[in-house]
Amino acid sequence: MTMSLKPTQYLRSRVASNLIPSRNLPKAQVLWIGCSDGGFAETKTLDLLPEEIIVHSNPGNVLSNDDLGIASTLEYALNVLQVKHIVVCGHYDCRLVNMSASKSPIRGWLRDVNYLCEDYRYELERIEGLTERNKRLVELHAWSQAQSLLDMASIRKAQREKGLEVHAFVYDSAKGECVELFSNIEP
Ligand SMILES: [Zn+2]
Repeated sequence: MTMSLKPTQYLRSRVASNLIPSRNLPKAQVLWIGCSDGGFAETKTLDLLPEEIIVHSNPGNVLSNDDLGIASTLEYALNVLQVKHIVVCGHYDCRLVNMSASKSPIRGWLRDVNYLCEDYRYELERIEGLTERNKRLVELHAWSQAQSLLDMASIRKAQREKGLEVHAFVYDSAKGECVELFSNIEP
């Protein structure tokens, strides 16, 4: 997957359940970073054994805040488990990642969502309907959070030396499936 562009430059594709083939071994090959308030098993959109996915969740699937939880999870996943994939997964209808994040009691934690609202205000305000606007914001956020991973030297090193792949997903609970956001332009 190529991800080196600015947040708006992505395409969407439905995630096939065999996108990451199971090895049928109880060994982690995916680190899945999701949102705490999902309330559904979005990891099951991939046809993998439970032992093949380790999950880190926090409010709003944020990994750009440099907190110890995500830093430790990345360290463990990359250097101990040596996962081959990192999935950053947002979800439509997220109660945290939406246009009113600036009014949230945890707006400090959600600061990057607010930055996106500001940076893309012109575009977002031209999308008809709050539901569709929030959908676009969820996608922008998942995409930009995955991008922030690619800014990390340890991730780039793992990509080069171990073939690590980074994915930006959004879960659609109405359809029970994920879409992957991707770029088809080489860096
Ligand atoms: Zn959420």
